[in-house]
Amino acid sequence: MSDCVFCKIVSKDIPSDIVYEDEMVVSFRDLEPQAPVHVLIVPKKHIKSLNDLAPEDKDLLSHVMVDVIPELAKKFKIADNGFRVVINTGVEGGQTVEHLHFHLIGGRSMQWPPG
Ligand code: 5GP
Ligand code: ZN
Repeated sequence: MSDCVFCKIVSKDIPSDIVYEDEMVVSFRDLEPQAPVHVLIVPKKHIKSLNDLAPEDKDLLSHVMVDVIPELAKKFKIADNGFRVVINTGVEGGQTVEHLHFHLIGGRSMQWPPG
C-alpha cells in the first residue's frame, strides 16, 4: 500500500527505531510512547484491521502471540511485572493507522477500563 505509513516503515522508506524484525513482522518504538515500554508489532503484510483477517493469517497471529510478544516482553524485562497488548480496531476502537498493529505497553501500572 503506497500511502500507508506502516508499509513505508516496513519497507524502510520511513525511518523508525526498530527493536525486532523477522520474515513476518517488524517491531518498532511508538512515536508517542504511552509508557516506558511502548512498541508496535506490525505484520509486513498490509492487513487493514482485525476485521480484515483471512484464514491464511492464522500463522501470523499465532507467531505474534506465541513467539514475538514473549520475546519482546523478555527483551524489555516486562514479562514478570506484566504488560498490556492492545489492538485498536476501527473508528470507535481508536484505530488511527489503518494497518493492523499490536501495541505492547509496559513498565508502569495501568488502569482498567481504558478511556
Ligand atoms: P492506533 O491508534 O492506530 O492503534 O495506533 C497508531 C500508533 O502509531 C500511535 O500510537 C502512533 O503514535 C503511532 N505512530 C503513528 N505514526 C507513526 C510513525 O510514523 N512512526 C512511529 N514510530 N509510530 C507512529
Ligand atoms: Zn500498510
